[in-house]
Amino acid sequence: MSGFKEVFEQQRKRSLLLRSEGYRQRRQRLRDLERWIVDHRSAINEALWNDLRKSPQETNLAEIYTALAEVREARKNLKSWMEPEHIHAPFTYLGTSGFNLHEPKGVCLIISPWNYPFNLALGPLISAVAAGNSFMLKPSELTPNTSSLLKHMVEDVFEKDIGFVAEGDAKIAQELLELPFDHMFFTGSPTVGMIVMEAASKNLSSVTLELGGKSPTIIDETADLKDAAQKISWGKWLNAGQTCLAPDYLFIHEKVYSKFMTLLKTHASERYPEEFYTGIINEKHHLRLRGMVENAVELGAEKFEVSGEFSDRKMAPVILENTDDKMLVMTEEIFGPILPVLKYSDLNQVIDYINSKPKPLSLYYFSRSNKNQERILKETSSGNVVINDSVLQFAHPGLAFGGVGQSGFGKSHGKDGFMAFSNKKAVLRQRIGFTSAKLLYPPYTQLKNRLINILLKYF
Ligand code: NAD
Repeated sequence: MSGFKEVFEQQRKRSLLLRSEGYRQRRQRLRDLERWIVDHRSAINEALWNDLRKSPQETNLAEIYTALAEVREARKNLKSWMEPEHIHAPFTYLGTSGFNLHEPKGVCLIISPWNYPFNLALGPLISAVAAGNSFMLKPSELTPNTSSLLKHMVEDVFEKDIGFVAEGDAKIAQELLELPFDHMFFTGSPTVGMIVMEAASKNLSSVTLELGGKSPTIIDETADLKDAAQKISWGKWLNAGQTCLAPDYLFIHEKVYSKFMTLLKTHASERYPEEFYTGIINEKHHLRLRGMVENAVELGAEKFEVSGEFSDRKMAPVILENTDDKMLVMTEEIFGPILPVLKYSDLNQVIDYINSKPKPLSLYYFSRSNKNQERILKETSSGNVVINDSVLQFAHPGLAFGGVGQSGFGKSHGKDGFMAFSNKKAVLRQRIGFTSAKLLYPPYTQLKNRLINILLKYF
């Protein structure tokens, strides 16, 4: 038996016991996890600095705070999430009682990416534990310091038959994917998402896929331009643009185009002195991003690059004007500090464009017009929408987070995360003796035929 298979079997046995555990034990695990995070803040900061040159400020906000908010939300609401959901009996079910139980799925696999390596491992892990599962976590091989810290964390907080971290690359992930997990939660690229789904289909494991894509951002002629420029600059260049839900490209109304571009360039320049700006994960991605800029410029785009010293694997914010659909920046997810912009004159154009592309993870709309906001909400499809801000939806503890179509499926965070790792088990409790259903048992006499007709007509 391979090492993983052995751990899997131990976890499977333990998961049967976890089913009947009460809420106090689960809450205690969440408490221990929260304490570990609070106590190891400087170690987390150090790991993120070594892996990504992420400043302590960004690590505290976008890695540690988000994880703490998730664990606190789960701890606070666990009791009510675990409670059976009573369902009102319709007239035809008189005398019965019905409820949905939220039982743990069992043994779950979590595969996480490198861009927010702490937070994106912790989010699903917290939901899995809150829902009463055991889990195996495979963090990204591109952030070895954080992955090793995650391993220590899981060893400190959980027994091996509840939580286990498998460090390593795609090969290790492939080995894990062969095991018959009860649920697989994958965060990463659409290409690997397909591999995960294919593997899950062999055992009919349920899956949550948190994928990426190109999140459009629209600034209409009624928007507050300064406010929009500030918020977009923050959302785009946070983590040097290596954020799955970052604004990927902008559509700007032609009436406000010049004014907005001036503000955007000013904010992009002022916001990021080097010390607060995250590095690019590795040389391969640096070259990929540089290649995207070169390709756009060769095909006629105008480049604005924030000037200043950007050393140590960092890449300055780049804005590209005059872009079009032939350029790589408009055909591929950027996942870096490059922001292509397009001009539009009519909102129909924008809606048609978005609807002709794969459904995005997020859509950002900057506008004062309620009518236009309604149109965007109704006429486009995306995992989530933010009106007059960017990226903030991720840390909202009560909002479901996730994609649709090619940006993924299944939801995470808060109760939705808990539900992703739970089986909603419906229970119907019937009385003994006479029941309304018995009135319809065969043989079908004339009276029964009449009752069936009444049922079809009125209930
Ligand atoms: P990735 O898909 O390359 O890797 C993610 C994980 O999958 C890693 O742990 C990796 O080791 C593993 N993996 C890689 N190849 C594999 C294979 N062949 N079989 C099984 N596992 C494999 O993604 P990444 O480069 O780490 O992250 C970037 C992508 O993730 C972007 O597309 C981004 O939009 C997306 N993302 C989505 C979210 C979200 O919440 N929706 C969050 C962050 C990142």
